[in-house]
Amino acid sequence: MSSTFTDAKGRLEPAIEYADVSADTLERLRLPKSVLKVSIPVRMDDGSLKVFAGYRVRYDDTRGPTKGGIRFHPDVNADEVQSLAFWMTFKCAALDLPFGGGKGGVAVDPKELSTHELERLSRGYIDAVADFIGPNVDIPAPDVATNQLVMGWMMDQYSTITRRIEPGVITGKPVAMGGSLGRDTATGDGAWHVIRTLAPRLLDGDGPWTAAIQGFGNAGQALATQLHNAGHKVVAVSDSKTALYNEEGIDVPAARQAKADGALEADGAKEIDAEELLALDVDLLCPSALENAIHEDNAGDVRARTLWEVANGPVTAAADDVLIGNDVIVVPDILVNAGGVTVSWFEWVQNRAGLPWSADEVRERLEEHMVEATEAIWSLRDEHDIPLRTAAYAHALRRIGEAVDARGSAGDYK
Ligand code: GLU
Repeated sequence: MSSTFTDAKGRLEPAIEYADVSADTLERLRLPKSVLKVSIPVRMDDGSLKVFAGYRVRYDDTRGPTKGGIRFHPDVNADEVQSLAFWMTFKCAALDLPFGGGKGGVAVDPKELSTHELERLSRGYIDAVADFIGPNVDIPAPDVATNQLVMGWMMDQYSTITRRIEPGVITGKPVAMGGSLGRDTATGDGAWHVIRTLAPRLLDGDGPWTAAIQGFGNAGQALATQLHNAGHKVVAVSDSKTALYNEEGIDVPAARQAKADGALEADGAKEIDAEELLALDVDLLCPSALENAIHEDNAGDVRARTLWEVANGPVTAAADDVLIGNDVIVVPDILVNAGGVTVSWFEWVQNRAGLPWSADEVRERLEEHMVEATEAIWSLRDEHDIPLRTAAYAHALRRIGEAVDARGSAGDYK
């Protein structure tokens, strides 16, 4: 059976020779620290009881408390959550955040729940995992189909259970409950900093570029807005129901408004097949939805010059090989989408200090952090002539290795 987790771990292999880490480090990273599976009973509005499966995985906490979002999606399963927690471990290390990696999820289609059912599910999730999270232990955040509202309920529930106000237990909260300014657009904004730093080098010039964005959720919308505002052309966008194409460029603000009003639409755009979007001849292809969107069978169709992994794990390992063979440059998720968790870190710092930052301060620090990590990974790629993904993993692995060695005792046995 194919496993996203096996695929995810395979990405580490080529990076090992550039990271110079101990055998202890690699052994530590072989298995997750803990995998929790819970059942969440929810009283539905019609009076019936439904039980949902929930997960929380802490992959590695050598560099700090584990950190990562919670997703609500019908396909959530242990293999997926474990992979996502593995990616968070490397993402946090790549960005030098004082965190390890974790992830959570509930197998549910949130669109089928009323707001009250969703609240009971969110609070029920925290009832089930409360003993395993905490501001110094494991810190959840939003992910696919969870948002500020859900994070607010979760933080409130955790505070009720522990009988103290604990804003630092969850990030991505509403600003009125201790959330950070700029967290809502941070993933897309961070991706934009990576693109504006690297795309001129990869595409020989400043554009204007054409972009196709698969997935018009939180990250896809914020990135589309940045591209649009900077004068580039977003020629295609899609969500789970439709894919739209306009050679002249989609009116991004109008498409966002239509999506907020209920359905993704754009004047002058024609509907295309979801797979067609991935095969468009564009400068930037930005898969921004779920993992494994580009796989062995459709990777050969990709005609974009560069591919930016705004989603977690949108390109399988087999697809990576095809893309490399076809000279499509892939910029990896653990760098491209790290803006979200970076501003989550800022939120956690603000909560601990009790001192909120201005929007400008968040913006400036995010930019500085994203550009620094991008340049470090780019230099490693140049130095060894390796793919950016290998460079990103090597960069992160070095940092994890230093932390493992710093607390380890392997040297005493030599
Ligand atoms: N879910 C986001 C990610 O995959 C954010 C995680 C966080 O803020 O902790 O990076």
